[in-house]
Amino acid sequence: MFKQITLPYSYADLEPYIDTLTMETHYTKHHAGYTKNLNDALLKVNIEESSIEKIFREIDDLPEEIRTTVRNNGGGYYNHNLYFAHLAKHPQKAPTGLLLEKINATFGSFTAFQETISKAALGQFGSGWAWLSTNIKGDLRVSSSPNQDNPLIETKGVWIPILGIDVWEHAYYLKHKNLRGAYIKDLLEVIDWQVVEKNYQKVIQ
Ligand code: MN
Repeated sequence: MFKQITLPYSYADLEPYIDTLTMETHYTKHHAGYTKNLNDALLKVNIEESSIEKIFREIDDLPEEIRTTVRNNGGGYYNHNLYFAHLAKHPQKAPTGLLLEKINATFGSFTAFQETISKAALGQFGSGWAWLSTNIKGDLRVSSSPNQDNPLIETKGVWIPILGIDVWEHAYYLKHKNLRGAYIKDLLEVIDWQVVEKNYQKVIQ
């Protein structure tokens, strides 16, 4: 059984950047729904696999009747566990150490990185995500994905996301309405780089 992470903050803690009702709905309805649908689909064909990464790598081997359901809802399960974990009430506002060095070397500066990922998030047509990913060598890449896809699914595990920006309207519409750019700007204020650094270290060690 796959489980949602326990939020390390309350629904109201990301105010005024992300509003309470959006956080509550996002976590208790959307994320809970993806997680339940993933578990139900796997149960249906008696698959007891505890590694979502392995499921993504071998997605093409899944029975056809559940493949699309697992891709969409497994993505939704995984992507939101990543997303919710790297938001915080009192975030570390910028990367430090090795990750900062890599960001500077890859994008020019932290500000330039923020512009790059904001552009990817803004440019994703329709629902989807923007990502900062790493490979096991520690290289960095910004990309975007439609729906609930992610770099793990798209590259069979070569690129591993360490930061994700959800640009589905359910992530911002109640507060920011149609202004995706305003949401992205606000979201960047509550990203905890301490968590992103830990995600990075976990992959490259
Ligand atoms: Mn979402």
